[in-house]
Amino acid sequence: MRGILLCFIFLSLPAQSQNFVGFDGYCGLPVIETSLKQGAIAYMDLQGNPSILIDPGILRDWNTEFTNFTLAHECAHHQLEHSTVEGRLERLVYPTVTVEQEFDADCEAGKLISANFGNDYLRQALRKLGRDFPGTNGYPSGHERVKNVVRCLVDAGLFVPKRRR
Ligand SMILES: [Zn+2]
Repeated sequence: MRGILLCFIFLSLPAQSQNFVGFDGYCGLPVIETSLKQGAIAYMDLQGNPSILIDPGILRDWNTEFTNFTLAHECAHHQLEHSTVEGRLERLVYPTVTVEQEFDADCEAGKLISANFGNDYLRQALRKLGRDFPGTNGYPSGHERVKNVVRCLVDAGLFVPKRRR
């Protein structure tokens, strides 16, 4: 099991090698490959330039379900203004905001993946999220995140639970 976390938002980053690898398919932001134990980050530099930083372990196959979910999740953090100075401060000051921001970004990512690839594809991404994320450092656990995404899509009418016979 890999103990990586999705998207811890930094105020500053240590100097390390960074490679531009393209643009994400959701926000159209630069995607930068760099070694990150957190997995991926919705990063805003001091000049206010947004980008997505992602660990090579997640990016190894650009087209996997989980890579796409991760990119959509980081895009959502930017869209929801979690990567602004205010968003990052809220997260630092109020411990419960980390969980709220992660759930909200997962919810938007779930909608983006559902719309772009369908719900079967989304379920593949959620399998990895549910299995491989124990939930540490104030982050919700993988299974809590999966339940949140499913509820979010049910509420939006995008995901209809299958009826039992
Ligand atoms: Zn996140």
